[in-house]
Amino acid sequence: MDYLPVFLRLAGEAAVVVGGGQVAARKVDWLLKAGAHVTVMAPQLAPALARRVARGELTHVAQPFAPARLAGAAAVIAASDDRAVNAAASHAARARRIPVNVVDSPELSSFIFPAIIDRSPIVVAVSSAGASPVLARRVRAQIEALLPARLGALARFLGARRAAVKRALGPGARRALWERLVDGRAAGEVLRGDEAAAAGTFARELRSSGDDPGEVYLIGAGPGDPDLLTLRALQLLQQADVILYDRLVPEAILEHARRDAERLCVGKESGDHAAQTRINELLVSLARAGRRVARLKGGDSYVFGRGGEEIEVLRRAGIPFRVVPGITAALGAAAAADIPLTHRRLAHSVTLVSGHAADQDSLDWRSLARPQQTVVFYMAVAQLPRIVARLRAAGAPGDLPAAIVERATLPTQRVLRAPLAALAPLAAREQVAAPALFIVGEVTDLAAVGLGAPVERPALPPADCATIGAVA
Ligand code: SAH
Repeated sequence: MDYLPVFLRLAGEAAVVVGGGQVAARKVDWLLKAGAHVTVMAPQLAPALARRVARGELTHVAQPFAPARLAGAAAVIAASDDRAVNAAASHAARARRIPVNVVDSPELSSFIFPAIIDRSPIVVAVSSAGASPVLARRVRAQIEALLPARLGALARFLGARRAAVKRALGPGARRALWERLVDGRAAGEVLRGDEAAAAGTFARELRSSGDDPGEVYLIGAGPGDPDLLTLRALQLLQQADVILYDRLVPEAILEHARRDAERLCVGKESGDHAAQTRINELLVSLARAGRRVARLKGGDSYVFGRGGEEIEVLRRAGIPFRVVPGITAALGAAAAADIPLTHRRLAHSVTLVSGHAADQDSLDWRSLARPQQTVVFYMAVAQLPRIVARLRAAGAPGDLPAAIVERATLPTQRVLRAPLAALAPLAAREQVAAPALFIVGEVTDLAAVGLGAPVERPALPPADCATIGAVA
């Protein structure tokens, strides 16, 4: 960047314009709009400037440029048609450290004029750093076409209410109110020119927005394929100001969030206790700041998703929340690998089990080993040999059909099938990695009959995911 764009306050300040022609007149217009006391130094004046002098809007010094006249000036513009005069004005101003613009001579200028869109108090300034003023003006025209004519009125309407909102609401609720207003009905009314209606709408909005906390949406993002999001998940993702997502959630799903939503990867693939505490704290503090927080989890929040712990924390903190169910990995894998989880002939029940529990005695292995059912183990990769051993010890036959579904519904999905006794060595050979499910039961054999060619899926890049430590 060759120039730092800043806005200069000139109200009540002295500004000197050297030269009295048309170009000088245009610069004088801007200086007067900014409230400067303008002195024009030129032996002669263009009619537009002469009229302004006659109306008492500026001071005319009908003399050639003299450096002493710059004393006390906050800005100098050299716009004469004499290069030597302009150069002298530039030198004199720089020697006195007064910002100077020489029209069409960036090399003699310490500041340049941008192309300006004036919807005061909204002002847009476009610069090409002198490279192409025509292009800068074209960009200005394009931006101008996008901006509502009454944008300035809207800014004044909101500006006039800042103090009242500040008195009434805390910082989080304030921000939420302004965002609602800018996108909402009151803004539409001002832009249509109906400020009376807008004032009423504003008053109602202000009354109804107490210093409430924001809210949290616990959203199940499904097993990975973005097409498996629910419509409600999409709607709430669009509303959220900030998204807290797990490492398993792919980028293609995050793309459904609002462009301006803040994204925080909380980098949790499975039970990491320190991370969970930190996530709980973040949920509460973000919601207390008035934000709408989407907590986006793989699968379903209430199936090995620690959703129960999170709502407990939210309930204790008095923060409103909504829970959106997601397709849990077992259902995603079942559909993607053609494994019906129940079947009139083969399985009358289905059980979802945490593989983490395999080394504890909390599971009833005898009941898990019974026939006529399907058992789905989550978080089972590391525990696979132990799970198989426990099931066998509890009476499950070695030839009971079983399967591993790795990265279900994702483009890189793999399905491995083998009799129970052969599954752990197969998984080791194939280097099965999380996320994967281990499914035991006759139903896993059905798909082997063949139900058509596998579906081609485009690659889905994972979301950029720092660890939770990087979030703070
Ligand atoms: N709440 C999630 C489960 C989180 S526990 C849900 O309802 O699905 C994490 C475990 O889920 C992983 O270890 C794996 O066993 C399973 N899992 C999640 N996504 C998966 C996927 N796409 N394919 C296979 N298993 C998956």
